[in-house]
Amino acid sequence: MKVITLSICFLSMVLFSSCASAQFHKNPVIAHRGAWKTDNIPQNSIAALNRAGELKCFGSEFDVHLTKDNILVVTHDHDFYGIDIETSTYQELLQKKHPNGESIPTVEEYLLAGKKHKNTKLIFELKASKISKARTLKAAELSVNLVKELGRQKQVEYISFDYDALKKIIELDPKAKVSYLTGHVSPADAKNDGLAGLDYHVSFYKKYTNLIDESRALGLMTNVWTVNLQEDMIWFLDKKIDYITTDEPELLFQVIKSR
Ligand code: MG
Repeated sequence: MKVITLSICFLSMVLFSSCASAQFHKNPVIAHRGAWKTDNIPQNSIAALNRAGELKCFGSEFDVHLTKDNILVVTHDHDFYGIDIETSTYQELLQKKHPNGESIPTVEEYLLAGKKHKNTKLIFELKASKISKARTLKAAELSVNLVKELGRQKQVEYISFDYDALKKIIELDPKAKVSYLTGHVSPADAKNDGLAGLDYHVSFYKKYTNLIDESRALGLMTNVWTVNLQEDMIWFLDKKIDYITTDEPELLFQVIKSR
């Protein structure tokens, strides 16, 4: 009887884990700031995230800042239509809206919207504070806590130009997938520091042509930003890079389909 009970438990655990693990779309396309260009949707809006999800992109990238009152919000620049983010409260940021009527999304709203596109990864770029390193690290900590609270650990991957922020994220969530954007860390050093991959500018991969193979040999992922020209898309697809971040996801899908 005990054996049967244990077997049933084991079987249900296997079934549960296979049901619970998301199958992310199998393509290398990451929409940069969401998929906004074709339909003139505001970058980093929830509408742009939804479009990337509808396109079945592997991932949708977005940029995160911390307000004065410690709310994580999604937008690229250090200001939202002229309102400085770090020295303003979230309420103050609500004075402005995107042209499509959306307010600046909080990361919480964004992650909850992303939950509806569970097969698309949420590529979370943490922006460094202009005020202090301490604020950057605080933003890293709040980010990891929020992602955990909302149960999005498997869907979120982190990127940043700030290496210390990435190391903080790994410290707080050792299983988090983290990639560096700046481009001056070797694959071996990235591996030693616990990073999952490199996410470098086009020019680095073109200059150091063995970077992709070297990373792959170490088990690191490679991602490139921001690839908008068809000829570059072909170059990186030929190199079998893992992911391509682009403002033109529809074009990249066409290029992939035509090969
Ligand atoms: Mg970004």
